Amino acid sequence: MVKIKVMKAISERNDEVAHEVRKYLAENGIKAVNLISSPGSGKTTLIEKTIEHFRGSLTVGVIVGDLFTALDAERMERAGARAFQLDTGGSCHLTAPMIKSALADFDISGIDLLFIENVGNLICPASWDIGESARVTLVSVTEGNDKVVKYRTAFYSADAVAITKLDLLPSCDFDVEKVAGDVKALNPSAQVFKLSAKTGEGMQEWYSFVQRIAG
Ligand code: MG
Ligand code: ZN
Repeated sequence: MVKIKVMKAISERNDEVAHEVRKYLAENGIKAVNLISSPGSGKTTLIEKTIEHFRGSLTVGVIVGDLFTALDAERMERAGARAFQLDTGGSCHLTAPMIKSALADFDISGIDLLFIENVGNLICPASWDIGESARVTLVSVTEGNDKVVKYRTAFYSADAVAITKLDLLPSCDFDVEKVAGDVKALNPSAQVFKLSAKTGEGMQEWYSFVQRIAG
């Protein structure tokens, strides 16, 4: 059974708490990856595939931020991870105090890698440090060519960008190289992945990145 915690308004200062969360995770040997994207960009599926890939070699935990349901956390548990559902009570982004509060109730013993699936929203999640070790922003080929330039903060602040659902490219008017170039122009140090979780395209590069983060 997935544990669910419903958030109430928390007034602690975000950046101080983010620092505490980062320290707490480091003390417990856990690397956290914050995944940001619009709804439907494939965050849950990417995490699911990654859990399956590392089954038996990395212990993976997932904190899923969602507005009202536990559907994604249930998928993560079926894939073999320890999952915790953070019901944001309608809030459109995760904050460090929410993560701190989730960690107080979530058994993290033995976890090597913690995915934090942010609320599906390309705008405000980018402005909130939640104590992650790495931030990955996803954009799928179904979303159009302009997302990087329109939602700059989400791409500027990312350690890596994943262009997802490449298998749908034939039916989309999406220019992978243009979008990858937009990322490089905005954030030259970000690694860019071109992925299809469905066909497996690009996934080995992604897994290598995840393995490097996990250490
Ligand atoms: Mg999801
Ligand atoms: Zn928000």
